Amino acid sequence: MNLVVMKFGGTSVEDAAAIGRTAAIVAGRVAQGKSPVVVVSAMAKVTDQLLRAAAAASQSDRTGALAISSHLRARHRDTAAELIRNAQNRAALVSLVDEKFDKLDEILRGLSAILELTPRVSDLIVSFGERVSSRMVTAAFRDRDIDAAHVDARQIIVTDSQFQKAIPQDDMIEQRAPEKLLPLLRAGKTPVMGGFIASNEAGLTTTLGRGGSDFTGALVGGALNAAAIEIWTDVDGIMTSDPRVCPDALRVRVISFEEAAELAYFGAKVLHPATILPAVRKNIPVWVLNSRNPACEGTRIISLAPHCKSPFKSIAVKKKLSIIDVVASRMLMTHGYLSQIFAIFDKHKCPVDMVSTSEVSVSLSVDSNNQLPAIAADLEKLADVKYEGKKALVCMVGEDIRGQNGIAAQVFAAIRHINVRMISQGASEINMSFMIEEDDADEAVRSLHAAFFREPDPTVFDVEARKQLLAPSS
Ligand code: ADP
Ligand code: ASP
Ligand code: MG
Repeated sequence: MNLVVMKFGGTSVEDAAAIGRTAAIVAGRVAQGKSPVVVVSAMAKVTDQLLRAAAAASQSDRTGALAISSHLRARHRDTAAELIRNAQNRAALVSLVDEKFDKLDEILRGLSAILELTPRVSDLIVSFGERVSSRMVTAAFRDRDIDAAHVDARQIIVTDSQFQKAIPQDDMIEQRAPEKLLPLLRAGKTPVMGGFIASNEAGLTTTLGRGGSDFTGALVGGALNAAAIEIWTDVDGIMTSDPRVCPDALRVRVISFEEAAELAYFGAKVLHPATILPAVRKNIPVWVLNSRNPACEGTRIISLAPHCKSPFKSIAVKKKLSIIDVVASRMLMTHGYLSQIFAIFDKHKCPVDMVSTSEVSVSLSVDSNNQLPAIAADLEKLADVKYEGKKALVCMVGEDIRGQNGIAAQVFAAIRHINVRMISQGASEINMSFMIEEDDADEAVRSLHAAFFREPDPTVFDVEARKQLLAPSS
């Protein structure tokens, strides 16, 4: 069986036209003799709106919460009505949408009475996005003669109970994915399931964290030993920087798992940071592809990337960070001092991105979050503490910076007009990162891009697309 996991993100299912394109792409794979398992996100922006509805309900704005839900209900109903040609199936799908939203409204009403939004209730509420979208996509496929079967992802993706960022239980997934999916595939069916949503062993709904549908795709691909995992999105692949920031970004044709993981971790939203791991373990190639431009060959992520003449493959930016300076004016740094500092971050379950130390001070960067005052209060017991938000981490990734002399000088020359706050002393040999003001981030990326992708290596980057863009129109 030539099994391929195809994950479609929010923009690939955002309306009837997008779902139609997605169906055509899947039908194309089936026609090639492949056996796809399809994983879909909620329709674009639905997760954000569900979170907003939950917040409103918990702040006793019952009317506001129900208004968001009713807007979402109308969007899903309209899409369903436009999508399904067979009248009977159309009516069945519209009433299924209504059933789901009736249930959601009940939860929102309950929440507006209880006024306490726990992570567990939040996960239950956001799960409706993928629960409805996966049903709609299944119905659309069937309407277009793809023999699709809906599968509830919560029966396959088992996690621990850390709601909102649950950790998958690999052993159970390895057992359940083949058990639930292989019989369908053997019968020639195309399973369709929601990404992002999961359940703990007690059957309570959990989620894998924002952007988690990529992770679901990789988990399912890993558990089924798929021949490939395809991440379908709204750009041509992994680009040399976020094309929204840098319009002349180029498609990277091929990149290593290690580079892609580094980019994802440091803010390239195109992939969820955990996506790569299940694929690496089984050495399954991952492709990033564009559902609006399926003819484009996308980006291939493989274990060993070929040599590249350019030092960097891509530039990522992580925004909304804070720098915390801990200055030990009352005591010089002594043995055990750093571990006391890290114990405080650990206590608050706050991951640290970057650290730099001097004789008396330690600077750390973390995601800006509302625990910072509490963390600072604990740190104050050890030393003087200052923290400042609105920082961004720029991360330049490439296997070919290993052992190259003079790269740092070239990087900092390209952004000499920008004030750099911290430079990574990290152990990774494939990334160079530094911290700047958030307001300078886009400009820094554009300057670095102009400096390092002026003459890109055509074996690794799609320079043809740039030439076409620059060619005078006839
Ligand atoms: P999906 O809904 O398909 O999961 P996302 O919005 O999560 O899509 O991710 C795709 C977006 O990631 C793109 O539209 C692009 O703006 C952004 N992005 C950030 N960095 C990169 C990069 N290096 N290459 C490609 N896209 C990137
Ligand atoms: N719908 C979820 C989100 O918006 C998961 C995903 O799209 O990957 O975060
Ligand atoms: Mg995504």
